[in-house]
Amino acid sequence: MSDTSIIADQAAGRIVVIGGGASGLSCAWRLAGAGLKVTLIEAGEPGGGALHASGGMLAAGFESAVELQPDHLLASAFVRFAEAASDLWPGWAERLQAESGRALGYERRGSIIPIFTAEESERAAAAMDRARALGIETSRYDAAALHEAEPSLARALGAIVFPRDGQVDNRALGKALTEAARGRGVDIIKGRSVTGLERSAGRVTGVTLDLGDPVDAEAVILASGTGAISGAPPVMAMEPVKGQMIAFAAARPVAPAHVVRGFSIYLAAKPGTRLVAGATSEPGVEDPGTDDEAIARLTAAARAAIPGLVAAPVMERWAGLRPRTADSMPVIGEVEPGLLAAGGGYRNGVLLAPAIAEALAAYLGVGEDWPSAAPFSPRRPGLTGAER
Ligand SMILES: Cc1cc2nc3c(=O)[nH]c(=O)nc-3n(C[C@H](O)[C@H](O)[C@H](O)COP(=O)(O)OP(=O)(O)OC[C@H]3O[C@@H](n4cnc5c(N)ncnc54)[C@H](O)[C@@H]3O)c2cc1C
Repeated sequence: MSDTSIIADQAAGRIVVIGGGASGLSCAWRLAGAGLKVTLIEAGEPGGGALHASGGMLAAGFESAVELQPDHLLASAFVRFAEAASDLWPGWAERLQAESGRALGYERRGSIIPIFTAEESERAAAAMDRARALGIETSRYDAAALHEAEPSLARALGAIVFPRDGQVDNRALGKALTEAARGRGVDIIKGRSVTGLERSAGRVTGVTLDLGDPVDAEAVILASGTGAISGAPPVMAMEPVKGQMIAFAAARPVAPAHVVRGFSIYLAAKPGTRLVAGATSEPGVEDPGTDDEAIARLTAAARAAIPGLVAAPVMERWAGLRPRTADSMPVIGEVEPGLLAAGGGYRNGVLLAPAIAEALAAYLGVGEDWPSAAPFSPRRPGLTGAER
């Protein structure tokens, strides 16, 4: 990457990471593992933001074939980057588990998209076509094979399967990343906010904290999700896209063995008896509360997909904010001298976190080149006010 040397030469000192979410913690852990001195500043609890709220699905296949805007200029680039991230996960999960001593609930059994209606059948056919065009692996279940694989699902016409998708226990991940980062020597300052960026001689040289205290840095990584930092360039502005979710108390055989990605609901069984279901998508909504109507809709959709959930109580409801850039794609790399972006994960920030961290390691001269991140440069044309 052309900018690498600018930063690598000066990165012998401290790297300051703003934000202890999926992106910030992953970067901090990765960079500290390469011997860099890292300080991470988190306004709340590390791992407590969108990572805590998420469904923990690692769904490069489904997200690319179903959710991605087909004519987005960066569609193919996203598929490459998301698949690269997917492939990093097994090794990351293994190392993180070993270092933190915490089970991550990582698995890659695929996601199943059941088809309940004629309209969904058409959407599934379109998704299969799109997956083929993008080179994404898929397979199909007929009604009988689906019933055998997931007997708790309501009778469906069949399903499509993205066999390379998986999931992780996102809450365990937040804790594991925090502990493993500390284990590698990352200085985590929690409960303090970054209020501004320090600049000198045309480069960012550190940050200011909420009590006015400065923290010097050779490079600052902006990973604050939807949290705006005063003085940060406009390309780093993130629109919050609120998502509300619920969790049922349900074990197998009612809980599905695979991640189920219905067209109107998704369900993912986490370790123990926690079955999460989600999620709403509410652009521009910053209020992190839940509302009864949305929760009732999610509950009904989940129970329609898995009738056995009628007897299962909803044990938790919550909401989080997905950070979305102006073109809905991640933003990774140098924003200006001394300032690096690591964010914009939007619907896929958990999936993408290892690849974002690897890309920043490359920018900082302590990792292998990571060319699939190049299209997501903060300097890409049209990031401000571009298509979503
Ligand atoms: C309901 C829901 C479901 C989701 N499901 C999935 C999924 O299944 N799979 C997937 O891959 N992704 C999913 N996502 C998206 C994913 O959670 C996000 O894209 C990802 O967590 C974003 O990570 P981040 O580190 O960029 O931001 P965040 O996780 O938001 O972290 C940013 C951190 O920065 C801190 N911060 C903000 N401002 C400051 C400041 N001034 N000073 C210091 N700290 C600051 C915040 O407190 C926060 O902890 C989901 C999101 C939601 C809301």
